Amino acid sequence: MSGSLTVVGLGPGDARWLTPEADAALAAADVLIGYGPYLDRIPPRLGQTRLSSDNREEAARAAAALRLAADGKHAAVVSGGDPGVFAMAAAACAEIEAGPPDWRELDVTVVPGVTAMLAVAARVGAPLGHDFCALSLSDNLKPWELIVRRLDAAAGAGFVIALYNPISRARPWQLGAAFEQLRTHLPTATPVVFGRAVGRAEERIAVTTLGAADPAAADMATLVIIGSPETRTIVRPGRTPLVYTPRGAQVVA
Ligand code: SAH
Repeated sequence: MSGSLTVVGLGPGDARWLTPEADAALAAADVLIGYGPYLDRIPPRLGQTRLSSDNREEAARAAAALRLAADGKHAAVVSGGDPGVFAMAAAACAEIEAGPPDWRELDVTVVPGVTAMLAVAARVGAPLGHDFCALSLSDNLKPWELIVRRLDAAAGAGFVIALYNPISRARPWQLGAAFEQLRTHLPTATPVVFGRAVGRAEERIAVTTLGAADPAAADMATLVIIGSPETRTIVRPGRTPLVYTPRGAQVVA
């Protein structure tokens, strides 16, 4: 089969965070498929078509791309950040697993991108400097009970936690509930970072504490990092604080 599927990470927004490999993959595609605002970031190219879809239609979008690839097209599906982090690469794999046998013969490439937690972390120093985990707070694809269990386990084990999908219109209370849950494990002085639309014109970074963290400070374009008991904040005159997690840790009784 001569078609191909490429799943491309666009990074968090700043064009300088689009890798040369991603840029080349976009240029080589016959058709670009993705959520409209992500497609809008890509300059138009002659002879290239676009299929935009709603953000929640990931499975349908992946299947459409696979059908085009099976028809001999070079299809590129785009994701914000990294396509393997809560995004289209897993959706494409799931469609290949469930789909017709000939989809397994297709040339499939995943092109990595800078994921949001790395971009937000870089803005404030090194909050992910030691062991950390990433959790999606969305309960669209898993029950809330499992999210609570994972928050307990992560905070109980001393991981720094990066929260993707912290809040949306359909999920207004989950971030507040997550902060409450984490307060049962962690000191109120634990650093918390809100990174909104990092790398875009609307970027906003705020550093606070778990005791003061207000869920209203987050929206769909925000990533939240909650420190571990080791995470430190360095206050600097006239500058945003530096937040870092030291590179070593001890067992605390
Ligand atoms: N594949 C993406 C994540 C998709 S889940 C990646 O690797 O970054 C969508 C969530 O990612 C958002 O709710 C938000 O938590 C986070 N996110 C994506 N872009 C962001 C940005 N520019 N700034 C801050 N958070 C972002």
